[in-house]
Amino acid sequence: MTAATTFPPTAELSRLDRCDRCGAQAFARATLPGADGAALYFCGHHFRAHEDALVAAGADILDERHRLDERVAAPEA
Ligand SMILES: [Zn+2]
Repeated sequence: MTAATTFPPTAELSRLDRCDRCGAQAFARATLPGADGAALYFCGHHFRAHEDALVAAGADILDERHRLDERVAAPEA
């Protein structure tokens, strides 16, 4: 019995992934079709700003913005 536990390469973002726009921690990745696997990384703010265009371009979107909630526990001020 073979368990299909292999995750696709788009499974998880790490804290080392940074927004291509501002350098903040990335919470979304967009892989563009025909770009040979090239991916763009976005923080929550910039992904929201570009989401419509990325979807329109047919990009494969990995959206982990739900994880932003995990960071709210850290006091900001
Ligand atoms: Zn950003």
